[in-house]
Amino acid sequence: MSEDKIIDGKAFAAGLRERIGRETARLKAEHDLVPGLAVVLVGENPASQVYVRNKARQTAEAGMRSFEHKLPPETGQDELLALIDKLNNDPKVNGILVQLPLPDQISEQAVIDAIDPDKDVDGFHILNVGRLSTGATGASAPLIPCTPLGCIMLLKDRLGSLSGLNAVVIGRSNIVGKPMAQLLIRESCTVTVAHSRTRDLPAVARGADILVAAVGRPAMIKADWIKPGATVIDVGINRVPVEGEDGKTRIVGDVDTQAALEVAGAITPVPGGVGPMTIAVLLANTLTAACRQKGIEPPEL
Ligand code: NDP
Repeated sequence: MSEDKIIDGKAFAAGLRERIGRETARLKAEHDLVPGLAVVLVGENPASQVYVRNKARQTAEAGMRSFEHKLPPETGQDELLALIDKLNNDPKVNGILVQLPLPDQISEQAVIDAIDPDKDVDGFHILNVGRLSTGATGASAPLIPCTPLGCIMLLKDRLGSLSGLNAVVIGRSNIVGKPMAQLLIRESCTVTVAHSRTRDLPAVARGADILVAAVGRPAMIKADWIKPGATVIDVGINRVPVEGEDGKTRIVGDVDTQAALEVAGAITPVPGGVGPMTIAVLLANTLTAACRQKGIEPPEL
């Protein structure tokens, strides 16, 4: 097994954050513009609290303004929508992210619908989804969901052009699977989207030059599901117990990484692959959103 098969998302994300930091400094110097990201957390989900803390820290490190809004678990939908309305109208806020999942009394759809599409740095608003699927460009270009956009950046960095390659995406969620498929279509791949009802999934997966796993099942994808030389992107984040160590857990992906390394051409590890890309791309989206709101051409990152 060779080290160069590992796609180092952690290092790529660090480089991306550095470029974002430079462009942010340039925006301030040339346009007196400091991009601002508002992150809203409702409730006390421990994983969400960690994500929000990391987002705030990395936003500040990139030279952007970070606005944190922590609301109690019993917050009502109207109260959250009122906050979103305030953020939509605040010129210092260029990007808005509401951390999911939300408590049961709040409709995620109502919240996503309420965010100004130009500030929707998660890319979940129906207008951004539509713009991505229709291939809109220029002033109508979409804001694109962070995790799949990060996956595409890693793929293009490793493979160059993706044109004509067979891509299989396992998972069809609105957050990862579907936008991933749209982005691969945009790169001129031939795309198959598989899910829990797919028949003979191993055979479908074996047709892939690019295999993206976004399922949420630890080590589900085995070595014999992978075409020799394929590039494997493991989006899964699964917490599993450490054998023989009571109460201890570790994070694994959807792919049996050690076995897959014998067959695949390249693979993202978990942790250290796709995970670190998500926040870096969130910052990139905030920068892009800020530029577009001020009529400035967003930088190539
Ligand atoms: P969802 O639970 O929303 O979607 C999972 C998808 O996997 C569904 O489409 C489901 O099919 C499919 N699926 C479930 N079981 C099987 C099976 N046995 N065979 C084939 N397909 C199956 O998850 P998300 O898309 O939100 O997340 C997927 C994974 O990615 C999770 O582990 C999550 O933690 C991780 N993640 C990582 C991020 C990162 O930053 N790296 C960001 C976001 C997510 P069906 O539609 O038929 O039910």
